[in-house]
Amino acid sequence: MSAALTFDDWRAKAEKLSYRNQCFIDGQFVPAASGRTFDCVSPVDGRVLTQVARGEQEDVDRAVRAARKAFDSGVWSGMAPRERKRVLLRFADLIAEHATELALLETLDMGKPIADSTSIDVPATVNCIRYYAEAIDKVYDEVAPTSQDVVALILREPVGVVGAVVPWNFPMLMAAWKLGPALATGNSVVLKPAEQSPLTALRLAELAAAAGIPDGVLNVVPGFGEEAGQAIGRHMDVDAVAFTGSTEVGKYFMRYSGESNLKRVSLECGGKTPHIVLPDAHDLDVAAKNAAFGIFFNQGEVCNAGSRLLVHESIKEPFLEKVMEWGRKMAPGNPLDPATTMGAMVDEKQMQRVLGYIEKGKSAGATLKMGGGRALSETGGYYIEPTIFDDVANDMVIAREEIFGPVLSTLTFKNEDEAIRVANDTIYGLAAAIWTTDINKAMKAARGLKAGSVWVNCFDGGDITTPFGGFKQSGFGRDKSLHAMDKFTDLKTVWIELH
Ligand code: NAP
Ligand code: MG
Repeated sequence: MSAALTFDDWRAKAEKLSYRNQCFIDGQFVPAASGRTFDCVSPVDGRVLTQVARGEQEDVDRAVRAARKAFDSGVWSGMAPRERKRVLLRFADLIAEHATELALLETLDMGKPIADSTSIDVPATVNCIRYYAEAIDKVYDEVAPTSQDVVALILREPVGVVGAVVPWNFPMLMAAWKLGPALATGNSVVLKPAEQSPLTALRLAELAAAAGIPDGVLNVVPGFGEEAGQAIGRHMDVDAVAFTGSTEVGKYFMRYSGESNLKRVSLECGGKTPHIVLPDAHDLDVAAKNAAFGIFFNQGEVCNAGSRLLVHESIKEPFLEKVMEWGRKMAPGNPLDPATTMGAMVDEKQMQRVLGYIEKGKSAGATLKMGGGRALSETGGYYIEPTIFDDVANDMVIAREEIFGPVLSTLTFKNEDEAIRVANDTIYGLAAAIWTTDINKAMKAARGLKAGSVWVNCFDGGDITTPFGGFKQSGFGRDKSLHAMDKFTDLKTVWIELH
């Protein structure tokens, strides 16, 4: 069991690890058509792990051709749902069997703690694939209520070729959130992982093939956003794009669609989650722990990170002390050490970006209470201290822009109406949280907060059965739950007159 592995065990395994580093197209690993590659750098220590194929237009073309051919052949799209279920369950089993390897690849590639890769990323990926496998022979089409001389069928059909473009913060899980429902409903997929984190996606493709997913049904083209990503977005033969990433790039995909074939676009974008704490929270210690984990988990590289802490003015001082206590416990460490709770930022660029925001917070007049600097620089890796600002105003850059790092902005309010108003004063609407024991205040907030998820007396609640996605500029379309299948299917009405 991976849970029992020590720091030394993980380091020894890391030395022996091998990497898939080519494009996976039509059931085979192939180099990029250009022969070009890019360095895959580990943020743990700045070391180059391997050179990965730099997929571009031509590689995307080949992948889309393979996906189209597989789709049109019916080898997967026409397979009985119970058969697709069987193959996808096998895929999930294979992911579970390779849990240690996949967790290690994820941690080395993007810097998250191995404890999280093993206890969260891998099991959640397995669970996601299993959920959609299990779902697919249990969802029925519809018959419309018509007069007796008509039978009207409402059929759900796969869209065809799906492009999935995903970010680096949960590389494997974000891929699974697209692959699960897209494959279960019978589509073929071309997946582009983020350039910072291609390794688990490539290994997943190989495991999918071993599980029996036919050639061409799942293709992976690693590469850069402006190249492979844009080629998918503008492709005339891609029917839908499912994107997770920044709001800025999400807008590009809308443009790509409009300028090409009006492909369906679903966007899971950024957030600036307000975390509201009222004085009557049932346990302020628990709330404080959640406030700290809500921003420092995964180095703050979480779309729904609780980056704006809104605390009632009457309890701000003691509450912030408690949050800082938890924050100090989360100081970054080597991601391969099972005791580490905060790892490395994904790359040097992201680290510099976050440090830049910290400078902006200071120069805007916010009070730096904790952290604020780089850590463990002697390792060659990219680490940042857990950072907390107080006296933040909601119009400061650090309260408005998504930092995507371990930086908490603390604001105060006088009453609930003000809290909800400030919480909603953002372009984002991915998630929001509130702590209170007053059912009226909780429900008024749950209704009043403009966000795709509202958590009451918890943070980051939910599981695969509940939809996840944004309001406003956090995007549209939902991942997880049966609703996620809407993105990958079209409705067809068949109206039959009886004579
Ligand atoms: P990003 O820069 O938007 O990149 C996301 C993906 O889009 C990557 O694969 C990227 O390729 C690609 N891309 C970049 N520029 C592109 C372009 N011009 N055309 C086509 N594709 C392009 O986001 P990120 O920095 O990887 O991830 C952080 C963002 O993701 C944050 O904003 C976060 O909130 C969001 N996120 C949202 C959710 C959610 O469910 N709502 C979940 C996780 C993350 P490269 O390989 O070149 O980077
Ligand atoms: Mg990497």
